[in-house]
Amino acid sequence: MDFVLRFNLPIVIVVFQIVLILAWLEANDAKAQERRFQSGGLDGRVEKVASHSCIHDQILEQRKRPGRQVYSVTPQVYEPGRSKPLQHKGRALLGVSTSSKPSKDEKKPIRIYLSYDAVGLSPDRDCQNVGDMVKLGDPPITSLPGLPSCNPLANPPTLGDCWYNCTSEDIPGEDKKHRLRKALGQTADWFRRALAVEPVNGNLRLSGYSACGQDGGVQLPREYVEEGVSDADLVLLVTTRPAAIWTTLAWAVACERDQWGRAIAGHVNVAPRHLTAEEEASLSATLKHEVIHVLGFDPHAFTHFRDERKRLRNKVTEQVMDEKIGRAVTRVVLPRVVMHSRHHYAAFSGNFTGLELEDGGESGTSGSHWEKRLLMNEIMTGSVDTRSVVSKMTLALLEDSGWYKANYSMADRLDWGRNQGTEFVTSPCNLWKGAYHCNTKEFSGCTYNREAQGYCPIQTYSRDLPRWAQYFPQANKGGPSLFADYCTYLVAYTDGICTDTNSAPDTMLGEVRGSNSRCMASSLVRTGFVQGFTTQGNGCYQHRCINNTLEVAVDGMWSMCPQAGGSIQFPGFHGELICPAYHELCNTGMVVDSERCPRACNFNGDCVDGRCHCFLGFHGHDCSRRSCPSNCTGNGLCLNNGICECKTGYTGIDCSTAVCDEQCGLHGGVCDNGICKFRCSDYGKYTCQNSSTLLSTLSVCKNVLGNDISGQHCAPREHSMLLKLEEVVVMPNYHRLFPGGARKFFNIFGNTLCEEAAKRLSCWISIQKCDGDNRLRVCHSACQSYNLACGASLDCSDQTIFSSKGEGRCTGFDEVKEEEMKEWRKMIC
Ligand SMILES: [Zn+2]
Repeated sequence: MDFVLRFNLPIVIVVFQIVLILAWLEANDAKAQERRFQSGGLDGRVEKVASHSCIHDQILEQRKRPGRQVYSVTPQVYEPGRSKPLQHKGRALLGVSTSSKPSKDEKKPIRIYLSYDAVGLSPDRDCQNVGDMVKLGDPPITSLPGLPSCNPLANPPTLGDCWYNCTSEDIPGEDKKHRLRKALGQTADWFRRALAVEPVNGNLRLSGYSACGQDGGVQLPREYVEEGVSDADLVLLVTTRPAAIWTTLAWAVACERDQWGRAIAGHVNVAPRHLTAEEEASLSATLKHEVIHVLGFDPHAFTHFRDERKRLRNKVTEQVMDEKIGRAVTRVVLPRVVMHSRHHYAAFSGNFTGLELEDGGESGTSGSHWEKRLLMNEIMTGSVDTRSVVSKMTLALLEDSGWYKANYSMADRLDWGRNQGTEFVTSPCNLWKGAYHCNTKEFSGCTYNREAQGYCPIQTYSRDLPRWAQYFPQANKGGPSLFADYCTYLVAYTDGICTDTNSAPDTMLGEVRGSNSRCMASSLVRTGFVQGFTTQGNGCYQHRCINNTLEVAVDGMWSMCPQAGGSIQFPGFHGELICPAYHELCNTGMVVDSERCPRACNFNGDCVDGRCHCFLGFHGHDCSRRSCPSNCTGNGLCLNNGICECKTGYTGIDCSTAVCDEQCGLHGGVCDNGICKFRCSDYGKYTCQNSSTLLSTLSVCKNVLGNDISGQHCAPREHSMLLKLEEVVVMPNYHRLFPGGARKFFNIFGNTLCEEAAKRLSCWISIQKCDGDNRLRVCHSACQSYNLACGASLDCSDQTIFSSKGEGRCTGFDEVKEEEMKEWRKMIC
């Protein structure tokens, strides 16, 4: 987090910054074990499809280590004409654009700027030659260089904080670099079409305060910090460093946010070994997945989500003990996520309250992915491959952040769970129906989307499964994927894929394979032949939808199916074929049922038990009418189209939210409905603590804290973070307040006075006093004392950092007596 302060100092513009450093939590290596199960997923065709296992949750754990900055906040300009340019030399970052003023809150396609400056730049992290040893994570400093070495096969595997031995596949040659640019360029284009954002006015400003990202991160190029980045709403810093886990194609994290919490910079790493022609398709899906993490699918980002009033959301997820499922689950309860989930699953009952996040079977602490049991091949589940699709639920999550407007026409069709009803989402999977549940290995049938013939993959484990996953009388039996909660559902035979023309059809059954072939239950056998297997009960047959009728073909003979599905026969064949219902294969839209709402509430409201609950700003029985909520609260003009045009100083759908002074963001405050709050807890692991505990670490502030031994100051609790605070915050502040050390118009004594005053002020600004969680602003008098001692003209009237409140209500009150100051002045002059 940035803490930036602008003074009208004649010589320099002073910029103060505070780094947000979070404490350490041990990354648990249970995760490594889970990964082995991940690829079991969709339908058993693992060997044919390269799958990306995402390590985002593990990365978030690592980012909590001491000295790691989770992210910093750099405020952006969104409305032209609201801010004066920063008078920093060569830094026209707040430059006001001359373009005509856009209407407020107008969202434009997101501009993602891809920076390749850091590709191959880091000698200790990038593979340049075969045999190079490069760092993964932060390997401990040992007497033996190059140890510990990364070893995914060890027990337990060494995958992070180790030295990695580069192979030829880890070196990004020109062809790989070309593939990388192409794939990322396409990814950025996709998001431009899928998401709109309130555009940054002028150049995107970045603090570049510390390295951005993970595993050493990337130092922002100097010009990005000094000049900003033009035509960008988000900068992605790309690297091509190896990953120890070969199933991890890429990873990405956000590292800077704007004053509303939206990610403005992120670090994306793509492992060179996966930049091959064969993996182009899975890389494309993986990059989408990883960029979605940067954009907002991330527990850190959740804490910044805003509602339509532009106020911080009080609830993004809820963790509940689910009695039916038998364990604690975390659900996303965002309004549009819930709404689109209802339509996907046809879960219109009030019993459905939110969409589950992946917990890897654990206690629900990870939270960066959708639950695989419920979303299977959705792109934001924990493993990604070429069949991954982006659902409306993922786009809805991004829109519910308050930062983006989603274009739902960019969503793909997700088949898993479609129209399965509330029971599907709220029940354990052994109560699922049809192809979603099987309980004997002897059974074969069509997979859930009818694209393949499948089998029931029941495995026997050496240990008992967790109690909630014991779906069989034998506690050690279950499905192959921990991430899909060991559920057993039909998965495709490798040679049973109806759409795959490479696998041979069974001509005895009249099968045809191809893009329009689907799996159907059937007992058809060509006349004169005998059924080969007793288990054979299905086959691949062509289908088409003509004149509101489903037709199927056996051996090239087309025949009409009953609307509701059912058996039909074919000349030349014994037995019968069971047609699916028309809507199952032809009408991808909704099934009419009484629980649904009129016109789906126009997707402007939630549909519960047949009634629309319109979102703020919409009304009518089908939420089709737009209205100015609360008549714009008296803070705006209600336009004819029902949209509020807010007066300056107000924002949100109903103009009820006051906008903070821009200085609030600049000074590290969090704007909460017009009130600029300075809280210790906004700085990650900062707390309000006794001055005496800080004394030994913050050497520059020794005198300040020594004089205030019983006071409380806002600072990180951990020793290493305190050291970092001194190095990157207190000292730079001090050097800015006391530039160059000597001033020619002071005598030596005066210079000492100035130095002391600068020391004090830099401490007070960097570690303010606190009262509970409230940080107390620096006393007006302290600013004046500094000006007096140094002959400076700091703007002490700036109320976002200085306060004229009296004793005990500000930091550094009266520590230098007015009388003393007068004495000093006399001596100097
Ligand atoms: Zn992920």
